[in-house]
Amino acid sequence: MTESGHFDILVVGGGMTGSALALGLARQGWLVGLVEAGQLAAITAAPEAVTSVDDYEPRVSAISAASKGVLDALGVWSSVARERHCNYQGMTVWDGDGTGRIHFDAHELHVPELGTIVENRILVRALFQALADSPVTVLDGVQVTAMAATPQGRTLTLADGRSLTASLVVAADGANSRLRQWAGLPTREWDYDQQAIVCTVRTAQSHQRTAWQRFSPTGPLAFLPLASGEAGDDHFCSIVWSQDTLEAKRLLTLNDADFTQALEAAIERQLGAIEAVSRRSAFPLRQRHAKDYVGDHFVLVGDAAHTIHPLAGQGANLGYSDVRVLLDELAQARRNGLAASDALVLARYQRRRKGDNLTMMAAMEGFKQLFARDELPLRWLRNTGMRWLDRAGPLKQRIAAEAMGLHH
Ligand SMILES: Cc1cc2nc3c(=O)[nH]c(=O)nc-3n(C[C@H](O)[C@H](O)[C@H](O)COP(=O)(O)OP(=O)(O)OC[C@H]3O[C@@H](n4cnc5c(N)ncnc54)[C@H](O)[C@@H]3O)c2cc1C
Repeated sequence: MTESGHFDILVVGGGMTGSALALGLARQGWLVGLVEAGQLAAITAAPEAVTSVDDYEPRVSAISAASKGVLDALGVWSSVARERHCNYQGMTVWDGDGTGRIHFDAHELHVPELGTIVENRILVRALFQALADSPVTVLDGVQVTAMAATPQGRTLTLADGRSLTASLVVAADGANSRLRQWAGLPTREWDYDQQAIVCTVRTAQSHQRTAWQRFSPTGPLAFLPLASGEAGDDHFCSIVWSQDTLEAKRLLTLNDADFTQALEAAIERQLGAIEAVSRRSAFPLRQRHAKDYVGDHFVLVGDAAHTIHPLAGQGANLGYSDVRVLLDELAQARRNGLAASDALVLARYQRRRKGDNLTMMAAMEGFKQLFARDELPLRWLRNTGMRWLDRAGPLKQRIAAEAMGLHH
């Protein structure tokens, strides 16, 4: 930090989006600060070896090839790859209410893998390890409690009374972004009246490095394959089970045996018996999109700008696309001698990201609606559509490429 606590760019929130962005900006030569409410010691603690379902972090991300590219360019992917992660080769999606089934396969699509499942804490830890060797000033264990405008930028007040100034403030403070509210940027939001139940299970049969997803009228269920660290043990999966709120509440109150039975039935015993289940947690599902991502000396990235239904596991990937584009625009600004907060630079970032994010959000909404309905024509459309798509080479490849973020 400089004497006055002044930065070119202050990033608030060191989740997987903010920490990656801060690292990339410092590499470009900007004077960067990162404020994160969590404690550094907890963020950088080594992940425990897994001996049971309770040793995994319940929140994981399906990292696409495009996001991997962003992390690779930051020099962080090799550290992630040394830790626990699962490159998945297949993805099977089916309609629990019919006969539609579609399978994506890495070999068929001529790619080494469809994506990588990583626990969020492993990803964030790798980013903070890289930050420790970078010129970024990391202020951890402290919350930003207020933001004010100044003629040259923004002032942030921290919970411990310190105040910092910057030409540009980046809000990467997650779905309930307080900075977005303080900046007065409104959102469009809708509640799905659904909750995602998240937990880890051990299954009798191997997950075959495949992501399994079953759609039903009350919501989608995903089994995401996890690595155990022990060679050949491919029986752990992370579960994201989105259900209407009432049903989710009922499932959460079941004891382990009854919950396991319900889960086995819901996935149609695709991986055999469920031998162990971890503690369960639940997240309410809201889709939320900021009408504008930028303001005076201010910009939103990641979940602060958009939250999306987890049915396609794209939340983190949209955040990394924001990071890639904002880094690109700010690198150009720096080459051209412009300030980080230059209004045209920020407007270009917004233009390049908003359309993409909206398209993905609309697709998720359409998907959800299609499977939430029970009318016969829609069921017919789902079944024949999925079967047809499964055989339609080029279109299937195009959809897979979109999902992997390879269309850029
Ligand atoms: C159930 C569920 C399953 C999901 N599954 C997937 C998946 O499979 N694949 C995928 O890509 N995405 C998935 N997502 C979405 C993904 O988790 C998010 O998109 C991602 O975590 C967003 O990252 P972020 O860095 O923008 O925000 P966050 O991860 O929310 O990070 C925000 C950070 O800001 C800090 N912070 C907040 N306020 C302040 C403050 N005032 N001062 C200082 N620090 C502050 C917080 O401590 C936190 O570290 C899932 C989400 C849910 C709910």
